[in-house]
Amino acid sequence: MAEDKEKDQGLDISAIGQMLMTMAPSMGPEFGGLVSAFMGMAKTEQHQLSADWVKKWVSNPNSGGAFIKRLMALHPNVLKKFVAQMMANVFFRDHDVIKKYTEAKVQPPGLMLISPSMRCNYKCVGCYASQYSKDEDMSFESLDRIITEAKELGTRFFIILGGEPLVYRPLFEIFEKHNDVAFQFYTNGALIDKEMARRLVELGNVAPQVSVEGFEEETDERRGKGAFNRAMRAMDNLREAGCVFAFSITVTSRNIDAVTSDEFMDLMIEKGAIYGWYFLYMPVDGDSDMSLMPTPEQRDKLRKATNRFRSEKPILMVDFWNDAPLTGGCINGGRNYLHINHKGDVEPCIFCHFATHNINDCSLADALKGSFFAHLRAEQPYSYNTLRPCPLIDHPHIMREAIAKTGAYPTHNGAENVYTDPKIMAEIDKYALEIKKYFNPVWEEEYAHWAGKWETLLNIPVKQVEARKAEYEKEG
Ligand code: SF4
Repeated sequence: MAEDKEKDQGLDISAIGQMLMTMAPSMGPEFGGLVSAFMGMAKTEQHQLSADWVKKWVSNPNSGGAFIKRLMALHPNVLKKFVAQMMANVFFRDHDVIKKYTEAKVQPPGLMLISPSMRCNYKCVGCYASQYSKDEDMSFESLDRIITEAKELGTRFFIILGGEPLVYRPLFEIFEKHNDVAFQFYTNGALIDKEMARRLVELGNVAPQVSVEGFEEETDERRGKGAFNRAMRAMDNLREAGCVFAFSITVTSRNIDAVTSDEFMDLMIEKGAIYGWYFLYMPVDGDSDMSLMPTPEQRDKLRKATNRFRSEKPILMVDFWNDAPLTGGCINGGRNYLHINHKGDVEPCIFCHFATHNINDCSLADALKGSFFAHLRAEQPYSYNTLRPCPLIDHPHIMREAIAKTGAYPTHNGAENVYTDPKIMAEIDKYALEIKKYFNPVWEEEYAHWAGKWETLLNIPVKQVEARKAEYEKEG
C-alpha cells in the first residue's frame, strides 16, 4: 500500500504503527521496548526532551504506566493509524521540515480546524445552530481541497467541528479518502451507535471527542434532558469497539468544581476516554455571558488539577490555555493552528470570528501568508509570561490592533461587538488585568526558566524572547 512507504516529517508512520502493534501483546511492566523506541526516534533536543518525559511518565505505574496499558488495548487499526500519527506529530515533529516551509514564507500548521457544517441535531440553550440549513454546508469538494492543500504543506492532524459533524453527510468519505492523516471530531455523541463505532475502528485514523459539561446535571442543563446519558452510551460503544476517543469540556465559572473533581475524571477513565480537553468559556460575540468566564483563581485551579491528573491518573489531559508554556504561547494565525468555517472564512483561532481571506477565493498558502495571520504571528509570543497566552482575553489590545490594521471582517453576526462594544471591551480589559496580577507570580515561581529554551525548542528567535522579557519587566 502507498501509505506503507510513506515517510512523514522524516518519520516512517507505517513503521511506528507496526512497532506499536508488535509491542502491544508483549508489553512488559517496565515498557522497556516502548521507551527504547522513543529514544531511538529522538533526533533533536526537543525530541530528546519528549522521550525523557515519556520515560519518566511511563515509570509511574498509576499514570503513564497504566495509560500505556490502556492505549495498547485499543484496536490494532487505531494503534497503526491514529496513535502512530500522533506519536510522530506530537512528540517528534521535525522542526527542519517546519523551518523549510517557514523560510518559504508559508508556515505549515501542525493542526487544522475545519467546521464544514453548523447544523446540529440538538437545540441547546443559547445556541443558534438550528438556524443553519444544509445549503450552507461546505461542499465535499471544498473540504477535500482544503485537506489536500494542507497535506501538501505538511499538516497531518485535522479537527472537525460544527455544529455536530456527524450530521455532515460526506464526513466518513473524507475520513476514508484521507486515511493517511489523523482526524478528531467534536461530537455530542448522540449519533454514535455500535455500528458507527465499528466503522470508526475500521478506519483507524479518527478519534471522536465527546463533549460533556460535567456530570448529568451540568450537561443536561445546557444540552437538554438525556444528553449526558446519550454521551455516556456513545463512550460505551466506542470503548467496546476499541476506538480511541477523548472527552471535551468547556470550563465555566459554574462547572469548574465538577469537571476538576476526582469522581469526574475517574468516570471518564472508566468510560474509556484515553485523553481529554479543557477549553475555557470565551466571549465570541455580543451575546456571550461574561460571568461564565472562569476567574483567575478558577483558571489556576484548572492548571493545578490538570497537573495532578497527569501525575496520578492514566489519562492524558490537555488544558488549552494553561499548557501554553509548552508551546511557547498562543498558536493562532497558522503558527500551529487555524480554523476555517463552513463559509470558507479563514480564521486565526476557533474563538476569533474574523478573517481577511476566504478559502473559496484563494489557496490555503495564500491565506496563511495574508496580512492578518502574518501580523498575529509576528507578535507571538504575546507575553514573556506564557501562562497569559491569549490575544483575545489576556492581551485584548493585540487582537484589536490586528483587526484594525489589517481590515479583518467579522465572520459571524455580532462578532464585532467583542471589539466595539465599550461595555464588553471594559470587562475583558478588567479580566486581563486580573489575570496579569494573579499569574505573573505563578509564572516567576514555576515557569520563567522555560523561556530560555524557546529558541531551541520552538523556533522563537532570541530577539523576540528578549523583547517580550523587557516588556514584561516594564509592565511591572
Ligand atoms: S487566540 Fe487564545 S484561544 Fe486562540 S489559540 Fe491563541 S491563546 Fe488559544
